[in-house]
Amino acid sequence: MYQIIRQILRTGIKTEAPPQPEDALRNEVQQISAQILHHVGRALAIRHVDAGSCNGCELEIHCLNNAYYNIERLGIHFVASPRHADMLLVTGPVSRHMEIALKRTYDATPDPKLVVALGDCGCDGGIFGESYASCGKIANVIPVDVIVPGCPPTPTAILQGILTAVSSCKTPQVLTSGLHNSKPSGSS
Ligand code: SF4
Repeated sequence: MYQIIRQILRTGIKTEAPPQPEDALRNEVQQISAQILHHVGRALAIRHVDAGSCNGCELEIHCLNNAYYNIERLGIHFVASPRHADMLLVTGPVSRHMEIALKRTYDATPDPKLVVALGDCGCDGGIFGESYASCGKIANVIPVDVIVPGCPPTPTAILQGILTAVSSCKTPQVLTSGLHNSKPSGSS
């Protein structure tokens, strides 16, 4: 018993000290939350759609929910159905077998809605491009508001893209449907 106590005292505390609360970070978080509340009027609901990704982008999206980024504290949460979503977060080039599913998901999302295309594949087709198996970039299939390049983009870049899309709403608390500046090819 005494031997163990002596050993504990000799060894001391080996774990890292917990980080001190950062006022600057706390202020930034409050500003982002206020921005979302100002533009959306409540929490922002996002439906993620994998349209043909290699899953690299998904790993970075998952990071947004970990204890470090903790995206829910900003008033942003992921939902399981497009019918509950304000925004679609779409990854990958659109594979041909996902083309109709992506269009249906877009149609099922209530207006007004925002679309963020993630990763080099989502922005311009990336390494997959357009082929018999791939429609290429997301904007070839549905209207896109914001693109976030990177292979894969970092969680911070993804968060920045989400906030850029939210900030692009000119009218507070109303996500106007006239925001879509990138029409799919072939649409009028
Ligand atoms: S951008 Fe990179 S990580 Fe994302 S789906 Fe394409 S290849 Fe994968």
